[in-house]
Amino acid sequence: MASKKHHIVIVGAGSGGIMVAANAFRKRKDLDIAIIDPAEYHYYQPAWTLVGGGLYDYEKTRRPMEKYIPKHAKWIKDKVTELDPDNNQVKLASGDTVSYDYLVMSPGLENRPDLVEGLAETMGKNGVCSVYVDPINARETLEKFKSGNGLFTFPDTPLKCPGAPQKVAYLTSDRLNRLGLLNNGAKVIYAFPGGICFGVEPFKSRLYEINKERGLVLKHAYSLVKIDGPNKKAYYKQTKEANNDGGPITMNDPNNEIKETETEDGLKVIDFDVCHLAPPQRAFKWVQESKLAHQDGPDKGWMKVDQFSMQNPDYPNVFGVGDTVAVPTARTGAAIRKQAPVVVDNILALIDGKSITDHKYNGYSSCPLVTGHNRMLLAEFGYGGERMSDPLLSKFVDTSKEKYSMWLLKKYGLPFIYWNKMLKGKMMD
Ligand SMILES: Cc1cc2nc3c(=O)[nH]c(=O)nc-3n(C[C@H](O)[C@H](O)[C@H](O)COP(=O)(O)OP(=O)(O)OC[C@H]3O[C@@H](n4cnc5c(N)ncnc54)[C@H](O)[C@@H]3O)c2cc1C
Repeated sequence: MASKKHHIVIVGAGSGGIMVAANAFRKRKDLDIAIIDPAEYHYYQPAWTLVGGGLYDYEKTRRPMEKYIPKHAKWIKDKVTELDPDNNQVKLASGDTVSYDYLVMSPGLENRPDLVEGLAETMGKNGVCSVYVDPINARETLEKFKSGNGLFTFPDTPLKCPGAPQKVAYLTSDRLNRLGLLNNGAKVIYAFPGGICFGVEPFKSRLYEINKERGLVLKHAYSLVKIDGPNKKAYYKQTKEANNDGGPITMNDPNNEIKETETEDGLKVIDFDVCHLAPPQRAFKWVQESKLAHQDGPDKGWMKVDQFSMQNPDYPNVFGVGDTVAVPTARTGAAIRKQAPVVVDNILALIDGKSITDHKYNGYSSCPLVTGHNRMLLAEFGYGGERMSDPLLSKFVDTSKEKYSMWLLKKYGLPFIYWNKMLKGKMMD
């Protein structure tokens, strides 16, 4: 058992960890930064939706980790098992400990299919699939879907990129449409726990129009609680009496073609031929059990940070970015792009003996809503669901309209910017 010490320790070398390290080295060369991560590969997860739609090669979403750990950083290829912020140290699976002056938490989150009854047993089988879990299996499963009910859904728990299940529904409906099968033998049903299908205008209105034009059946306020894979049934608790706009709970099913039954204890049951879903997601157990996590309330188990400075309120030398933190905005790589420089500036200020800077994270996040095989609109928003726009992009394009140029951005532009700019600490501030 060895004990090491580094000035700055980053836990996780995913989007958040690499962006923080790279951005820090761009601002100051002589930093002593260690990054702890056991993974051989770094993944560009935003393209997994396209992989599921048969429009992107999975192999292109993963690259060797060693190519992206900044060359001045020390890579500790191990797994954190315990956090000890009182003693400024983390414990590793190997038994070693690593001490720090500053800690950045960025281990992401974990999929927890076991939290929906029956899901863990049937994931990847019986027509049940998820781009969050296995994008290749999702593609293979969805490609076979030609008739019956295609159910696209998720439970009432926090998700990373919560727009992804909707995007997969759009890609599938577009494929079926091109084959002449949509609403001609094959139905696409989007059943979701919320009262509206997207929270930010004008994207919300446009998405409702698209749903109507395509004839996607919408089920508002449907929270998935159980999956019976062998019998191809999904069970729902209805979370609200009506959709938030006062419209019907079920939309675009005028002839009542989607048959539902009800169990004795009031659960709605929908039969499916194929079911794409997002599994419940949680912070890792060792994060949940640490003193850095919220101990109660709606954010219980997620890492506690100030939503503007990304600093832990109880341990001022500890910061967090990415999927593991609780801030009231969508968990995305786009959010991390704006969180990471805030964390870097604040740590550098503390190192210099100054206080936290005025550089505040405003909740920026974005959702590239792929609505078909060659078009996309880009929803950008911040805290309070307020619409925001990238100043450069909005000069050239109205991102609330579906465009082929935006599709090119999603398929080619954003991956290029991710690998070559963001992971090098550029195009962030
Ligand atoms: C299907 C899908 C579609 C998405 N679409 C978009 C999109 O269109 N736009 C967008 O901006 N975002 C999108 N996202 C979200 C985006 O990919 C994530 O928000 C982002 O990758 C989170 O970064 P992170 O650093 O928090 O976690 P990750 O990138 O997941 O990295 C976490 C790292 O921590 C490491 N780790 C885990 N446990 C430990 C441990 N015990 N010790 C040390 N290291 C550990 C892991 O090996 C991993 O390398 C999508 C995600 C998915 C799954």
